[in-house]
Amino acid sequence: MAKVHRAHLRADIKRQLRREVGYGCPFPGCRKPFLTYHHFDPPWGVGRRHDPNGMIAICLEHHAQADRGVYSIQDLRALKQGIHSADGVKGHFPWTKREFLVRVGGCYVGRSGAQATIVLNSSQGAVVQLRRNQEGLLALSFCLAAPDGESEVVMEDNVLLGDPAEIHDLVADTGATQLRIWWAKKSVGLQLKFARVSHQELELMLERDRARGMKAWTKCRNAGGFEIDCDGDDVVSSTVLAWATKNCLDDEGRIPLVDIDQARVCLPGRPPLVIRDGVSPVLRFSAAIECGVGFALDGGVGGFSI
Ligand SMILES: [Zn+2]
Repeated sequence: MAKVHRAHLRADIKRQLRREVGYGCPFPGCRKPFLTYHHFDPPWGVGRRHDPNGMIAICLEHHAQADRGVYSIQDLRALKQGIHSADGVKGHFPWTKREFLVRVGGCYVGRSGAQATIVLNSSQGAVVQLRRNQEGLLALSFCLAAPDGESEVVMEDNVLLGDPAEIHDLVADTGATQLRIWWAKKSVGLQLKFARVSHQELELMLERDRARGMKAWTKCRNAGGFEIDCDGDDVVSSTVLAWATKNCLDDEGRIPLVDIDQARVCLPGRPPLVIRDGVSPVLRFSAAIECGVGFALDGGVGGFSI
């Protein structure tokens, strides 16, 4: 029989375990979305197999306690069947920086020294924004409406709040660098990544996004759409690079980046805005730098974009 590796845990088992606890650590009062998968019946060292009936999704802190035998099998079984999954998920993401560059569907937003910057705006108000906290650092907020228009997942100044009953899946990695929310199977509501990128990495990212934007424009032109000068200077890349270098570089020469590379933003009475890895019918390679408002989704007020 092939050896089973601890790390090789099937995606469907992980999802089953996440769903069971309502996407947050099931210990009373915890509800952190940064989940790990604990083998307790039998323990990994004894069974060396991934049996979801003897496993539970819990946060790193509670995992360490469980590994040291603080909880009995019965304690953990009770949590698996518990009512905690009805409680909302609550998690703090440690993404506070003096300045951020935001990439949203292959477009870029940045504004130096502002108290608040709206990244995505709709006629209903800000969908994604950065706000400065009391310490003078920027934190992320978003309000993501579900397709039914009734419920939402909210991040308020880096604190994520979600209702497990309304979500198909939610994954936050334990390092708090990625967050992915699904409304339904194959329908990503939002995928966010946080990274500190080097100048060179940003340059590559801009190059790739420009190429992708050009491809989309060319397709549009070939279909008899509008004409765009694809041979002009790359004003977007040079503006973004210059802005990020001047305003964002940290002590290690890296640029803090919030990257929204997938999204399905539901807007009342309109088709949703869909972003799939840098491509969206509404947003094409451009930048809104030093504007109060980044990009407008549905006729909401948007800023200047280049
Ligand atoms: Zn916990």
